Amino acid sequence: DKEFINAPLSDFTIKEKREVIRDAIEQLNHRRNGDFPRVFPLIDGDPVKDCVEYCQSDCPEDTGFVLGTAGMSEDHHLEKAIESVQSGFNEWRSTAWDDRCGLLLRVADLMEMERASLSALIILECGKPWVEADADVAEAIDFCRYYAKQALDLGNELDCCPMDGEEDHYFYEPRGVCAVIGPWNFPLAIPCGMMSAALVTGNTVILKPAEQSNLVAARLFAIFLEAGMPANAAAFLPGDGETIGAGLVNSERIATIAFTGSRDVGMHIIQAASVTHPGQVHVKRVVADMGGKNAIVVDDGADLDQAAQGIIYSAFGYAGQKCSACSRLYVHQSIYERLLERLQEAVKSQVTGKASDPSVDLGPVIDDEACRRIALAIEKSPHPCVRGQLKEGLPKGRYFPATLFHGVPFDDELMKDELFGPVLAMARVETFQEGLEQANASDYGLTGGVFSRHPAHLKLAARTFRVGNLYLNRGCTGALVGRQPFGGARHSGVGSKAGG
Ligand code: NAD
Repeated sequence: DKEFINAPLSDFTIKEKREVIRDAIEQLNHRRNGDFPRVFPLIDGDPVKDCVEYCQSDCPEDTGFVLGTAGMSEDHHLEKAIESVQSGFNEWRSTAWDDRCGLLLRVADLMEMERASLSALIILECGKPWVEADADVAEAIDFCRYYAKQALDLGNELDCCPMDGEEDHYFYEPRGVCAVIGPWNFPLAIPCGMMSAALVTGNTVILKPAEQSNLVAARLFAIFLEAGMPANAAAFLPGDGETIGAGLVNSERIATIAFTGSRDVGMHIIQAASVTHPGQVHVKRVVADMGGKNAIVVDDGADLDQAAQGIIYSAFGYAGQKCSACSRLYVHQSIYERLLERLQEAVKSQVTGKASDPSVDLGPVIDDEACRRIALAIEKSPHPCVRGQLKEGLPKGRYFPATLFHGVPFDDELMKDELFGPVLAMARVETFQEGLEQANASDYGLTGGVFSRHPAHLKLAARTFRVGNLYLNRGCTGALVGRQPFGGARHSGVGSKAGG
């Protein structure tokens, strides 16, 4: 029952730390000769090898390099998987809370032991730069340890008002089979968080990862098995979202759906889960964490060096592909020109290149669809813009320079839709209050940031900037498990908090 402490991030100024990641990337580079692994759906702990279709994981930084393939699950696999984890439910729910916590702690230890190779796989499969890939693994470790600790409390009976002659018991019960449907952008941490929360509370799980991150998810699932998870406590079903994902959501045998992904898919899942199918004994419960269109407001008199640094990291870290990324910027008119000048210089100095190259600032974007979406938005925008650089001599990959549009009107498309790429739109506001109003004028409500040196303005923001995670005088990404429980309101989520 130790105190929870976040796993420290790797310090890459230390030569040995750099070497282990380099070696791990080098190991994966051997797959370039075509000798790449195939992963399969896993039901009852066994690979199911009768898949008809395979999904190839190519490297966003070098699309000619195939890292591996995953067999795509079909309807009959889905049925078999649900049967398996349904049959395992009674035994798993009856295990002691301590034992289930023990599983999570062992998973965390195993991930710590193979931290470098997990990071390397994230770097190559998802185009995540070193520091952020390392943070992804650290967050996965944190989820396991944090939920294990929380579960020890949840496992205790809660107090009821005592009454002579009565015994009243109030305790938590698992719900049944939980579908865990994950995104690719935190390919290890988010599926791990959702899966570990469901398992530690006694539910059984079907893990359906995003198509773009099947290999990382397969390794995660294997680690749970290696840590001693019973084979029928969870099944692994890589597959197409619109078929296998939808099949899971619609199944009468799923009790809970833990989803992290885009707003459109999340809204669709919430609607589909409200339909009761014949034979269904649950009211399905959906925990949905969705997209963001996050804003930073910069006040008159803010520390512009601090603001510029926080804005650049929030907007362009992982090429803007974090749900928490800043994509809207509202700047007080009195400092607009000065901040613009600094941001322009900063953006011009941002270098996009291979995620496996630690000297670059931005890596590639995830897939061809993201390329089309981002290219179209940039091409269509009539507003003035400044762009960063592409490193020379890059292989064929999905590269975009950091892009800052300025003088953008409040009602512009760039201010509305989640683009999920390295694009930031900057607007001028007359007053700090107008900045807050504009920041709030969004369907989304995930993260937000404020740079100000006026105590009254910081207080006002804390009260009225309505987002799930608000940061004052720092960037708006990088929430830590337990310290900044994460999750948004409005169309960003149903208000639950991951790591909280
Ligand atoms: P996505 O919505 O395209 O896919 C997410 C998952 O849903 C994938 O596994 C996909 O296969 C599955 N899916 C697709 N259609 C489905 C359907 N009809 N039924 C069931 N499942 C279906 O999202 P993505 O591109 O993987 O991830 C990026 C999005 O996730 C962004 O919008 C980002 O903001 C959001 N996100 C949010 C958080 C958060 O905590 N709020 C964290 C990370 C990512």
